[in-house]
Parts: sequence; C-alpha cells; structure tokens
Amino acid sequence: MNSGRFDHDLDLGLAALREKDLFRCLRRVDTPQSPRIRIDGKTLLNFSSNDYLGLANEGEIKEAAVKAVERYGAGSGASRLVCGSLAPHHELEESLASFKGTEAALSFSSGYATAIGTIGALLGHEDIIVLDRLVHACIVDAARLCRAKLRVYAHNDLNDLEAILRWASEKHPKARVLIVTDSVFSMDGEAAPLREIAALKERYRAWLMVDEAHATGLYGPNRRGLAEELGVSDLIEIQMGTLGKALGASGGFIAGSRTLADFLVNRARSFIFSTAPVPAAAAAATAAVRFVRSKLGEHRCRLLWQRAAEFRPRTSPAGDGQEAPAGGSTGLRSTIVPLIIGGEAETLKAADGLRERGLFVPAIRYPSVARGRARLRVTVTASHTARDVRRLVAALEELNLPRGI
Ligand SMILES: *Cc1c(COP(=O)(O)O)cnc(C)c1O
Repeated sequence: MNSGRFDHDLDLGLAALREKDLFRCLRRVDTPQSPRIRIDGKTLLNFSSNDYLGLANEGEIKEAAVKAVERYGAGSGASRLVCGSLAPHHELEESLASFKGTEAALSFSSGYATAIGTIGALLGHEDIIVLDRLVHACIVDAARLCRAKLRVYAHNDLNDLEAILRWASEKHPKARVLIVTDSVFSMDGEAAPLREIAALKERYRAWLMVDEAHATGLYGPNRRGLAEELGVSDLIEIQMGTLGKALGASGGFIAGSRTLADFLVNRARSFIFSTAPVPAAAAAATAAVRFVRSKLGEHRCRLLWQRAAEFRPRTSPAGDGQEAPAGGSTGLRSTIVPLIIGGEAETLKAADGLRERGLFVPAIRYPSVARGRARLRVTVTASHTARDVRRLVAALEELNLPRGI
C-alpha cells in the first residue's frame, strides 16, 4: 500500500483549497435542528437551516417516525422493487399525489437521487436538456450523466431560453427537449418566471421539469409550491420536490402522471438500485404533508412569511411604500436572503464576526456559487421569534453588513 503518497496527493489538493479560502469542514452540532444549536460548546442562534416551518422537531411528526420504527423496524431491507416497498412508502406517495393534485407521485431517498434518477430515465444521448445557469448541483450532475446535449441559459433570461429552444427545434427537430429550472433558487432566493417558461415550452413543444425544493409547503393557496401560486402546475410534466426542507424529514419526490411514476419505477436507476428509505423517514414525511395541509400548517406558513418580512421589509421598487408583489430581483417574497459579499476571505470573516456575536449564518462559497460571488445565506424560519430576527438585524448593522443582495 502506498497510502503515504495517496494521502500526500490529496493533501496537496486540500492545501490548494485552503489557499483560496475554499476549504470546508464539518461542524458538529450537539442539539436537534432548531433556531438554537450548540456548536463547539457554544449555543448559537441559527439562521442556516432549510427547516423553514420548524417541522424537523414537530411533536406529531417525530411521533409518526417513532411509530413507524416500532411497527416496521429501523431499516427497509431492500430496494422497493425487491421487497422493500413497505406500506409507509405507499402511504407517503398517496398523500403526496393528493397534496400536489396529481395522479401519482414517486418518492426517492433524497432530492439528489430524485434528480439523477428522473433525468437519466427520461433522456438519452439523442436528446437535449436546457438548464437555467443557477439550477441546483444535482440537476447539473443529472444533466451530465444522462448524456443528452446540455445547453445553459442565462439566469431567468427568457430571450436566451427561447434562442436555445429555437435552435433545438430547427437543428434537432426529432430530439426530445427538456427544460429544467428551480422554482425558487437555493442560493439566491429568487423565483423563476414559471408562467413565461411554461408558455415557451408549450410553443416549442418541449417538456418542463421544475424543482420546488425551496417552495414545497411554502407557496400557493394549498402550499403546494410556486407553480400553484402562479397557476401553472398543470403545464409542468415533472414536478420535483424534497422532503428534507420545509417538510422536515428526508427524501425527494416526483409528482405527475401515473404513466410518469410507472416509467420511473422501471427506469430510474437511483430508485431501482438503491435500498428503500427507512420507514421512519417516509412516515415522518407523510405526517409533515398532513401538517402542511392543516389549519396549523397554514398558520405556521403565515408565521414564516411574517418573520421573513420582519427581516427584510418588502417595499415596492417605486418607493411608494406599497408592498412588492410576491424574492430578489424577481420581486417574490423569499425565505432565503443572500447577503452577497463577493470575496471568499471576506465572507468567512463576516461569518466569524456573526459567530462571535452568537449567530450562525453560513458562508456560501464556490462551488455552491460562482467564484467571487461568495455570500452569507440567511434563512428565516417560522420557529424564529421576532426578537431573534431583531438580534440578527442588529448584528448585521454592527458589522456593517447589508440586509439584502
Ligand atoms: C437541497 C436541494 C436538492 C437536493 O435535495 P436533498 O434531498 O437534500 O438531496 C435539490 N434541489 C434543490 C434546489 C435543493 O435546494
């Protein structure tokens, strides 16, 4: 064994990352996911979690997970197609389909596995995949793995998207064309113009997949996601969501037609060749969907938007004091607020400054965002109090940091 040289090689790679302020390390958290977490013996006010509705610690959801362990055990034993298709997975999918208002839904062990499996099942080397420049890394990886021709349009740029669709229909009239976008972008909090994208995909006869990881449970009258809020759910062939963010559990899912779900069961490799998620995760997600749909869920969601507005009061660009329409430059309210600093070292320093003041806000750097676009990423949740938000605002002011982009 040559492990001395092996480690030496890797150490060089790590040293290069340190040099560029891009080295990352894990921080051990000794408390449950909540607005207060203990790291290195210090309790910090946490503005980093995607547990937007505070469901990771909700009593009835934890209880559902415990009951599932008692009834179905800790593990699921095999892939769903072998013998691991336990009742909790079926219950979850029925509740997801009903929640999303689709014929069917299929769950995966993570959002990452959902994207890889689904895109890989739908496209091959003769097809074309068209991505917004800022889609989540799992979509980028899926697009590379599926071997389709990959085209990227400038972030939220409809003209650029249309130019690619026109090119595809002229040069590759027989190819399947799949457009994929996040509905709310994970590092910017901006919304995609889903109505306009859906209109373009209709005009050019493409397919549309929308990743609602940061919108499921948060937007729309039934909290189905941004597609519901914008009234375009029926135009989206493939609706993707995650179970680990606002739903407080773990996993990912696709909602759509029965045919799509059947197709994925047969063709999505991350579904077929992977052990089914543990029963507790499925049961927790089912309970979370029930919670989100309830009056309590509606109330919790309203609380979230109230906290988000307290952090960043939305005023119209006209400066007339009117509230802006439903984040970022697209004007939608968002639970994700990037404080873009630019330099990697400065961003780390800002995060350290906040930590010294008892606040945990992560420094997000390349490759999560472009080089030179490093930022603090603030996420506000329904579990924060108005006082928590005031503490964050005060600390940002003390450090002379912006409260928005
Ligand atoms: C987090 C995230 C995913 C991945 O979901 P996991 O369940 O964490 O694997 C996919 N897409 C977006 C936009 C995300 O933010």
